[in-house]
Amino acid sequence: MSDSYSLLILPGDGIGPEVMAEVVKIVDWFGANRGMSFDVSHDLVGGSAYDRHGVPLADETMARAQAVDAVLLGAVGGPKYDDLDFSVKPERGLLRLRKEMDLFANLRPAQCFDALADFSSLKREVVAGLDILIVRELTSGVYFGEPRGIHADDNGDNEGGRVGINTQRYTSGEIRRVARAAFELAMRRGNKVCSMEKANVMESGILWREEVQWVHDNEYPDVELSHMYADNGAMQLVRNPRQFDVIVTDNLFGDILSDAAAMLTGSLGMLPSASLGAPMANGRPKALYEPVHGSAPDIAGQGKANPIACILSFAMALRYSFDQGEAAAELERAVERVLADGVRTADLMGPEGGTPVSTSQMGDRIVAA
Ligand code: ATP
Ligand code: MG
Repeated sequence: MSDSYSLLILPGDGIGPEVMAEVVKIVDWFGANRGMSFDVSHDLVGGSAYDRHGVPLADETMARAQAVDAVLLGAVGGPKYDDLDFSVKPERGLLRLRKEMDLFANLRPAQCFDALADFSSLKREVVAGLDILIVRELTSGVYFGEPRGIHADDNGDNEGGRVGINTQRYTSGEIRRVARAAFELAMRRGNKVCSMEKANVMESGILWREEVQWVHDNEYPDVELSHMYADNGAMQLVRNPRQFDVIVTDNLFGDILSDAAAMLTGSLGMLPSASLGAPMANGRPKALYEPVHGSAPDIAGQGKANPIACILSFAMALRYSFDQGEAAAELERAVERVLADGVRTADLMGPEGGTPVSTSQMGDRIVAA
């Protein structure tokens, strides 16, 4: 069977186009050397889309994103757009993609490449060999729940006279679908899921725990499941992160825990992500892949950006959208080998110094490896 995959590339702003140029080299390599055929199209998102269309994501781009197997995004935003009205801010382009594609499962791996184990914020003994995956619910929870708002609250005994309200609200269906995603992922990895909530103090936490357990018992009884209070989870992530394989958690806890886990392994320039939705007609999930880092205006246009986060995001696309797990592992091994050879972009230079390579040199080295 000849494999053909449609890929929409949205480089965006700042260092987005610089790092994406390196991904394109990798895509071309897999096309030329591994018999994959990619149907690649490019479009605008964020400030660059605003400059052209007056909106951070054109309707045509949205429609194309809905139709492809995978969207690969660089980064959006920058100081040039800081004063724009909220409704057309670059970040709104990304939010529209996530919302309309209904990308409810956000995957953030934290993987420690051996060559960078001493670069981590923790000791080598704690992080060497680390390979965990945090699955964060992305479309519900306290960031979206109603009622919300800031209101007058003048009961005579409230200094300042106001109250701020957010509502944590999860339906069983929302919990089950993200739990399923986590169990499916675990089956392709270490077969272990740890679910994190605060069932000791939150009703939504009790429901979360019950529904994750339900999905386990009824659909994935062979995957090992444990439950942990999220505060303990934060502590365990720093104390002994290698005890985890897949962690599944809600939007708020996932936001915090995935940032903490990210820093276990080093630079922002190394961190990929995927956001997955429901399966499409062809069985592949709606999917958007992007580096965790932003547009890094401080280094944009200087050839200093580390393209690895974006390249590893493409590895996730190979694995999760195109079912090319071996190709994904091959790409990850190439990154590992280049790092082991001591090749470093500026963000990966330790205090001992050395000469960093440029964005495109790093891309070329990975292609060569
Ligand atoms: P956003 O709001 O878009 O997340 P931010 O300012 O929070 O933006 P980044 O744009 O990711 O975060 O930049 C944070 C810091 O990390 C900056 O100093 C930036 O130069 C650095 N940085 C981010 N990505 C990379 C990369 N790929 N290579 C090297 N340095 C990077
Ligand atoms: Mg940021």
